[in-house]
Amino acid sequence: MNLTGQTALVTGASRGIGRAIAVKLAECGADVIINYAGNKEAAEETAVLCEAKGVRAAVIQKDVSSAKECEALVQEAVDTFGKIDILVNNAGVTRDKLLMAMKEDDFDVVLDTNLKGTFWCTKLVSRLMIKQRYGRIINISSIIGLRGNVGQTNYAASKAGMIGLTKAAAKELASRGITVNAIAPGMIETDMTGAMPEAAREAMVAQIPAKRVGTAEDVAYTAAFLASKEAAYVTGQVICVDGGMAV
Ligand code: NAP
Repeated sequence: MNLTGQTALVTGASRGIGRAIAVKLAECGADVIINYAGNKEAAEETAVLCEAKGVRAAVIQKDVSSAKECEALVQEAVDTFGKIDILVNNAGVTRDKLLMAMKEDDFDVVLDTNLKGTFWCTKLVSRLMIKQRYGRIINISSIIGLRGNVGQTNYAASKAGMIGLTKAAAKELASRGITVNAIAPGMIETDMTGAMPEAAREAMVAQIPAKRVGTAEDVAYTAAFLASKEAAYVTGQVICVDGGMAV
């Protein structure tokens, strides 16, 4: 995939899947804006990894659960590299609890970050993309948004919401040269899944036809394809990167 001359904004790119996507897009030639919430050192490490691929990289700290901070993020990104061709809505959090124990705050934090953050960044960036009549928007959902999961009513609602948002935005923006797609990763090795007890992990792997946990790079390859010019006729889709788990 050749993304030379393009600029990508990746939310939550300090670690995990976001970092792998930022580095992969850089490897394909895109300049990259690395957004993060609080982990400055990790975000700067991602920038070094991107720059090592021969592109420009910049880090911007902003909390995507806030509309005001999303506005500031997009403005700073444009001020830095002049445009945004690729938006990856990747920033995400979990606050797992059984439904009976889930507090309003557990629900709101997850919805505000995962779904509302995606809404704001998509709205603000698509305005710019409409003017340039080109854009690629990639939303990192989850197979939990398709299948649900015990202890994750908040997370499943946020990730299912991202799929609905993806399809609706794809229909609105297709005629302007903008594609909007979702990736639904299965179980991927990152900090988010790292704290899982060994027994739960083994039970999860047993459900995966590929018999292994995925890597962040597995997701990044799919993102690079969806970010490419060659993916122009793919929009409104949900691509599972899950070793066959959701089949
Ligand atoms: P992770 O390792 O926990 O990394 C989360 C990233 O999101 C970090 O860069 C973090 O920044 C950033 N972030 C969190 N809250 C933010 C906020 N309010 N504003 C801006 N950035 C914020 O997670 P991951 O496993 O890579 O997951 C990335 C995405 O993939 C998430 O949307 C997740 O739901 C989705 N996903 C993951 C899996 C999996 O198995 N890992 C499966 C399906 C879907 P800081 O470093 O600054 O905290």
